[in-house]
Amino acid sequence: MSIRIPISDVQERAKERPPGYFEDVMLHGRIEGDEVELEEAAYKELARKYSDPSFLRKVVRAADAGLNWALQGFPVVTAEQHEVRQALCQACPHWESGLVDRCTKCGCASVKLWLATESCPIGKWERLPE
Ligand code: SF4
Repeated sequence: MSIRIPISDVQERAKERPPGYFEDVMLHGRIEGDEVELEEAAYKELARKYSDPSFLRKVVRAADAGLNWALQGFPVVTAEQHEVRQALCQACPHWESGLVDRCTKCGCASVKLWLATESCPIGKWERLPE
């Protein structure tokens, strides 16, 4: 069984959902005219994902990190500082390697390691002064 949703409805729902929702729905469906058709399993998985509080917290956390970084003037660490952070993360049980490496503790992708304003959620490395 499949479910057909007007693309305009997906766009409307995306306004109230975390960033990436629209792209996620489109990637999991098949576009038929002005509708997207989702298999029932994909529909249920997307519904589960976007109502999972831990997923939503991680998205909000990632958005907060980006905003904080922008407000501080986009400071980045040096290559040496990045190497130290990366080595600590790669040795950490919360690190998950994949298409996009990320920390499963805070949900942030590896790009976080370049942001001087960020710190490890369990204190393995600190934010750096400007
Ligand atoms: S940010 Fe901290 S908790 Fe997350 S993987 Fe790196 S060292 Fe581990």
